[in-house]
Amino acid sequence: MSPETLQPGQTIGILGGGQLSRMLVLAAAELGFKSHIFCPETDAPASFIADCATRADYRDAPALAGFAAGVDVITYEFENIPIETLTLIGSDTVIYPSQKALDVAQDRLREKIFIRNLGIAVTDFTAIDNSRMLGEALTETLAEALDETLTALGGQGILKTRRFGYDGKGQWRLDRDTDLQVVAEQLGNRPAILEALVDFECEASILVARNSEGRMCCYPVIENHHENHILRHSTLPARLSPENARAAQQLAEQLADALDYVGVLAIELFVTRAGLLVNEIAPRVHNSGHLTQDACHVGQFEQHIRAISGWPLGDASAHSHARMTNLLGDEIHDWRIWAAKPECSLHLYDKGTPRAGRKMGHVIELIAKSGAKDTAQT
Ligand code: AMP
Repeated sequence: MSPETLQPGQTIGILGGGQLSRMLVLAAAELGFKSHIFCPETDAPASFIADCATRADYRDAPALAGFAAGVDVITYEFENIPIETLTLIGSDTVIYPSQKALDVAQDRLREKIFIRNLGIAVTDFTAIDNSRMLGEALTETLAEALDETLTALGGQGILKTRRFGYDGKGQWRLDRDTDLQVVAEQLGNRPAILEALVDFECEASILVARNSEGRMCCYPVIENHHENHILRHSTLPARLSPENARAAQQLAEQLADALDYVGVLAIELFVTRAGLLVNEIAPRVHNSGHLTQDACHVGQFEQHIRAISGWPLGDASAHSHARMTNLLGDEIHDWRIWAAKPECSLHLYDKGTPRAGRKMGHVIELIAKSGAKDTAQT
């Protein structure tokens, strides 16, 4: 079905009900749209504020049909939605971003090959094809394969499952001292890749928005600091040379075009002495982009809604420098401290129980007004 411009009052459907979905609902409401959430959880933060919520499994065909019939466009808040869900929804309702983006982003091996084939640099990697290693020999054979690959990568690496990894889950840092038998046992038959350990200067991300006419705009590059594989802080602007900033924008636009992308696309980068390497892409709004809510003229959530609704893209340039801090687990209890700081805005997700590492909210601190615009529209 061809995309049309949505009118205020029409309904945005969102697959997934977490904090990203919740902030998309808020942004949609600001533009006069209604929202309908589809997710299996009964306590999803987005479902508390959406106009409508369907609670059903992602493979529940009748529930998906009812959902699709009641919305004017569908988007998703995370990349692990089963492809089958999109197939079950069918082609009567437009789904943005494209299924191709989901296909690529769901599998680390496919993602790396896709990006590399565009001539964009990625981390060195080797596929670990353990899916056909069987029975008692599995651990032994797999440990040998890991040992061989690790040696070829210089003795250090990061093993990652190809699918369903996030915030460090499904990852093992390997070196000469690692007991590869134990790792092989934990990995089992899950297909994986082994990446070289990158000696990066810093981590960064770039967000690009693209609409269905192929118009694009990039946010300024954001610098990210992780702890225990979870994003801790993001800052804008990133400490990046003008050449690297230009390269980031160029590769972001190239990727968005290649995926025929509509919406906001996030690209995670390693900044090395030799230039940029793409770590991974996320076909959605992104945690590192939260600071655009306060630091940029139009934040990532509104931008995504604009893009999927056929509206003109907003101004992605930054008017302020900012720092975002995730509130993880029990840190949610510090909300009073943050609320007392006039330079901070507080965004809490209304999630029930704080578990260790669970993203419960974030704080954006405005540091200074920025100078010249550093974004580009094409
Ligand atoms: P990922 O799930 O791939 O985003 O990885 C989570 C975090 O682990 C990254 O943000 C990095 O801090 C670290 N990491 C992942 N892959 C590598 C790598 N190949 N070399 C060094 N650090 C990595």
